[in-house]
Amino acid sequence: MKVYLDNNATTMLDPEAFELMLPFLQENFGNPNSLHAYGSQTHPALRTAMDQLYAGINAKDNDDIIVTSCATESNNWVLKGIYFDKIFTGEKKRIVTTTVEHPAIGATCTFLESLGVEVTRIDVNEEGVITPEDLRHVMGDDVALVTVMWANNETGMIFPIKELAKVSHEYGALFHTDAVQAMGKIPVNAQDVDVDFLSFSAHKFHGPKGVGGLFIKDSMKLTSLLHGGEHMGGRRSGTLNVAGIVAMGKALENANKFLNYEDAHVRRLRDKLEDALLELPEVTVIGKKEHRVPNTILASIKGVEGEAMLWDLNQAGIAASTGSACASEDLESNPIMEAIGADSELAHTALRLSLSRFNTEEEIDYAIEKIKAATKRLRSISSSYAYAPKWHKSGL
Ligand code: PLP
Repeated sequence: MKVYLDNNATTMLDPEAFELMLPFLQENFGNPNSLHAYGSQTHPALRTAMDQLYAGINAKDNDDIIVTSCATESNNWVLKGIYFDKIFTGEKKRIVTTTVEHPAIGATCTFLESLGVEVTRIDVNEEGVITPEDLRHVMGDDVALVTVMWANNETGMIFPIKELAKVSHEYGALFHTDAVQAMGKIPVNAQDVDVDFLSFSAHKFHGPKGVGGLFIKDSMKLTSLLHGGEHMGGRRSGTLNVAGIVAMGKALENANKFLNYEDAHVRRLRDKLEDALLELPEVTVIGKKEHRVPNTILASIKGVEGEAMLWDLNQAGIAASTGSACASEDLESNPIMEAIGADSELAHTALRLSLSRFNTEEEIDYAIEKIKAATKRLRSISSSYAYAPKWHKSGL
């Protein structure tokens, strides 16, 4: 059996979105900016897709949703744009963020520091989030932008975005959220949370790779990252990825239709898997279930190196992760576990399991069996793990 439990890294393409994008890869290949029929025949599908995106996050007509190549681009754009608009001009000095953002935020902040920007990184608590009080503590009228993710890619923990946006606005700062791991898993309503900027990526909600977006409230000014042609109203140059945009719109529409299913069925399967893991001795899971998006588990299985577990699971046809896919080529410890203050041994035993609406009960039962077997095998050959207490019913 093959079981894909790495949906926070990327997701399977929604079959309906796949069908929709095909004509735009071949017979309907026109450039939407061309004045001939090849160009104009792409327009109805593009309009539908943009409507789906606006409806998908409840954007107003006078907001902008600008299509980008990925959320990494969207995040870079917000940070570098704010640098040019507010900090380079001398109006403001600081950017505030957390210690657990995706590298698309973290590394961009480090780059901006090299240009003289002051960056304040708020430490997360033991659940892996920050509170509005934590933010208030570091705020001042010198802050240009606060950027905090909606949900964490590794733990699945949900941040109090509405309250964080409110505190930021009280100090005259703009607020950006990286909503990549929230969209398609929980309701994302740009009006309700009153954010100024919001990044998203199609391949995390069963859309294709290579396409994402940035929501800009009230179409406010933000210096472009990509200069060139007049695409996207001149805000983001580059010939439109028509097939990608069409598929992204449909994928978001469908993902939102499945939000109740995510909340009920995906959550039930996730909880079943999590409860089975916690039956094993010396297993911890980061963050309370009810504070996480419904699909994610970040567990630590004492005595079992994350990479060794991945190897065993891969042999059994199961795809999982030790943390962020971007960082998994090296054998570094899981960064969020370090941020939470877990000791280094714990941080090396991270296992991230992330489900989607395409997982079945049979797959989860199979995964439980294989994870338990791998834990038993790897603990039995571990030099650091003292054999489990004999009294435990699982015998591990
Ligand atoms: N932000 C978060 C929270 C993510 O999890 C990811 C991808 O893992 C990204 C940003 C980057 O997204 P993309 O692959 O679209 O650049």
